[in-house]
Amino acid sequence: MPHFAAGVVRFQNEVYPQKKELFEALSKGQSPEALFITCSDSRIETAMITQTEPGELFICRNAGNIVPPHTTYTGGMTASIEFAVAALNVPHIVICGHTECGAMKGAMDLGGLDALPHVKEWLAYSKAAVSAVDAVAPEADDAERMHLLLEQNVILQLQHLKTHPSVAARLAKGDLKLHGWVYDIKTGAVKAYDAATNSFAPVDEHYAAEIAAIAGSSSCTA
Ligand SMILES: [Zn+2]
Repeated sequence: MPHFAAGVVRFQNEVYPQKKELFEALSKGQSPEALFITCSDSRIETAMITQTEPGELFICRNAGNIVPPHTTYTGGMTASIEFAVAALNVPHIVICGHTECGAMKGAMDLGGLDALPHVKEWLAYSKAAVSAVDAVAPEADDAERMHLLLEQNVILQLQHLKTHPSVAARLAKGDLKLHGWVYDIKTGAVKAYDAATNSFAPVDEHYAAEIAAIAGSSSCTA
């Protein structure tokens, strides 16, 4: 029996009974806090990283956490983004890249992907990020180039996101917030993009004001 199938039996016998009320409530509908776009990489466990329960994140995953720019062509990402933003009205969208990303390694060396034609074509959506790295760090070693590419790819996909009409409409209304993250598989660190400074900072620094506000309000009500 595969490990993942045995897990379902354990879920039904041990986990579900403890969260029965949550699952019953979720059967009536969903109201996720965010559309969470990340890589398909098996090492990224979204619920664990964000400490969220079922129902809190509407998740789209693909190789390289890519958002194709909007066109008249309908793809899975386009439809899922539209549904999350225009039907579920998520207040946040997160694009989360990660270290050791095979897709980004491929994007850096498209010539090595001739045996994977669909992967090669898909990663063309990250080409501008590679160009950005080539421009800002032409002398950097491979490790530094990959570090920069992970960040530049998140920034690029945030730009692509803004070309989707549903996203553009909500941004114009001012009730949708975009977040760009990079998750470090080895250390568990998550860095967040600050558009004002065009740089990435640890999440606790990036969200320091919000964290302080929550701490302040909880101490007031205690
Ligand atoms: Zn990846």
